[in-house]
Amino acid sequence: LSGLSRRKRLLVQGATGSIGQSVLDVARRHGDRFQVVGVAARSNLTGLVAAAREFTVQSLAFETGSDSEGARREIEGSGIPHVFSGLNALEEQAANTDYDLLVNAVSGGAGLEPTAAALRRGISVALANKETLVAAGPIVMKMAIDHGAEVLPIDSEHSAIYQCLLGEKLDSIRKIWLTTSGGPFRDFETAELEGVSVERALMHPTWKMGQKITIDSATLFNKGLEVIEANRLFGIPAERIEVVIHRQSVVHSMVEFVDGSIKAQLSVPDMRLPILFALSYPERLKSDLIQTGIEHIRSLTFDPVPSGKFPCLDIAFQALERGGTVPAALSAADEVAVDAFLNHRIRFGNIAKVLQSVLDAWPDEPLDDIITVRRADVAARRLATEAITSLN
Ligand code: NDP
Ligand code: MG
Repeated sequence: LSGLSRRKRLLVQGATGSIGQSVLDVARRHGDRFQVVGVAARSNLTGLVAAAREFTVQSLAFETGSDSEGARREIEGSGIPHVFSGLNALEEQAANTDYDLLVNAVSGGAGLEPTAAALRRGISVALANKETLVAAGPIVMKMAIDHGAEVLPIDSEHSAIYQCLLGEKLDSIRKIWLTTSGGPFRDFETAELEGVSVERALMHPTWKMGQKITIDSATLFNKGLEVIEANRLFGIPAERIEVVIHRQSVVHSMVEFVDGSIKAQLSVPDMRLPILFALSYPERLKSDLIQTGIEHIRSLTFDPVPSGKFPCLDIAFQALERGGTVPAALSAADEVAVDAFLNHRIRFGNIAKVLQSVLDAWPDEPLDDIITVRRADVAARRLATEAITSLN
């Protein structure tokens, strides 16, 4: 890709979601630099068709298309040259479309195969889908190295760390400070957390996100996934990753170096900034999208996470320490537990109990390949479902 001569061609998977829509917004506002050549989602055909129309894409993929017969007919008559559907649609799209960067904004374990398909072709991936790195980090990162591709984090904390590390050596890191807003229950007493409502858990104080990650942010399991994600991306062991409550969500994370210096990356909380960074890397694009009025920021606070209050965070640390397929199992089990909570089948406090029971029952086994990850994913979902049944 030579400078300004050609626009970077983006394949945006998870295009109908919270991150996906922000990605499309960045592409729309910087249309001179980015061209969306493909979009994908699970079942929201109406949203997909709208995006496909706006960007005149070459390629469209969806897993199941039951929501709208009209949209399905519209896709059939749209003249989009390449349409993929079914269980492997996203992987096939990533393997068979012409593009420069895969933007993976799918939620959950389904993001793994398309990421692998892009990396195998030596195509870099801007990755919001943290579950991929949690479940299969060592496999994915090795694939990237072997094929000369990059994994560029979109998650705001990891984008911050990535930016702090530009020009630095990994062995200069003393510690990573991962910031969290503390979620909607940061001011609740531990005893009050057991039975909080779905509606209350969905009220995040600083970020507007998809439902699954919003619940994960309330249990702090999201921060646990991010600890594992940081380990995968930067090779830093669990004992040198510290989580700290930072209520303002302005400092997106920090790196402490061996000489005692600490670097941080700051901005208003708006996912379009880490998206813009990942899309334009290795350049920095001139953009008016994000305006951080430093004069309006009155204080920046950093508090320890109260011990015992957020058991899901401790469970994630244990999963990382045990390694092998344990993180993949916990990530899959969490999808099942969060879904059960959102559908009023378990109480908030039981999300941790489901995860704990999967962690306790899970055997230690090596993480060999993607097939191993898939097998662990299926088995962990079954265990989690059983745990939910026995809780009720
Ligand atoms: P949303 O729930 O808003 O969107 C999820 C997207 O993924 C939708 O486009 C959905 O399609 C698609 N999708 C889900 N499952 C499948 C599947 N099996 N096959 C194909 N497509 C699928 O999630 P978010 O945008 O909030 O999050 C996306 C990812 O980014 C997650 O991994 C999350 O952890 C991560 N992330 C999100 C942040 C945020 O601010 N939202 C911040 C940092 C990370 P459909 O609409 O058809 O269901
Ligand atoms: Mg994050």
